[in-house]
Amino acid sequence: MVVIGLGRFGTSIALELARRGTEVLAIDSRAKTVQALSGQITHIATADATDIEALRQLGVQDFYRAVVAIGSDLEASILTASLLVELEIDDIWAKAVSQQHGRILSRLGVHHVVLPEHDMGERVAHLVSGRMLDYLEVDENFALIKTRPPKEIVGMPLGRTGLRRKYGVTVVAVKSEGEEFTYASAETELMYGDIIVVAGPTDRVERFAELGF
Ligand code: ADP
Repeated sequence: MVVIGLGRFGTSIALELARRGTEVLAIDSRAKTVQALSGQITHIATADATDIEALRQLGVQDFYRAVVAIGSDLEASILTASLLVELEIDDIWAKAVSQQHGRILSRLGVHHVVLPEHDMGERVAHLVSGRMLDYLEVDENFALIKTRPPKEIVGMPLGRTGLRRKYGVTVVAVKSEGEEFTYASAETELMYGDIIVVAGPTDRVERFAELGF
């Protein structure tokens, strides 16, 4: 995996991948940045990623996947992304700082565009306005949330609560105090103090979370 641009976002990606044992080639144009991280990432180089020869020399074309984590310098982000497309990298990810930036990257052929600030802002909006302990929108209108169960379904096998019919949601996992998460089944009986993971259409899981105590 190649990570280009070692600002806060790129550094987090590179370090997390290195920690998990993934082979990482990290690139940044600032020698100081590279120097500061050199002990922690095995393959790290100072290079201008808008220079295709520099990328070729580093062997970027041999990697299956790359992330462009250059944000504020739009020109550098767009040029770098287009070079990765030219080098026929199979799976290109790029960070965008705005929706427009994201659209340009997609049109260039970037396979996955992420808008970290925008996405996190949306997530926090859902978290602060509801009673959810955690929230993940997995598709346009489908989410997974972590919450506490409403009183009315405690002490009864999930299969008999009529949850899907009544609320349009499914309890997928349960965690009792002091234990780990386990899958929920029709026989699972929730207890006070349990934390549950619920899946369903976004508006329905959010409404369901409001009933938790
Ligand atoms: P963040 O918000 O995640 O900190 P930034 O956009 O501030 O992201 O950081 C981007 C990083 O990308 C910086 O470390 C910068 O030196 C690096 N960078 C910018 N242009 C290039 C380029 N042409 N080639 C390689 N690295 C670059």
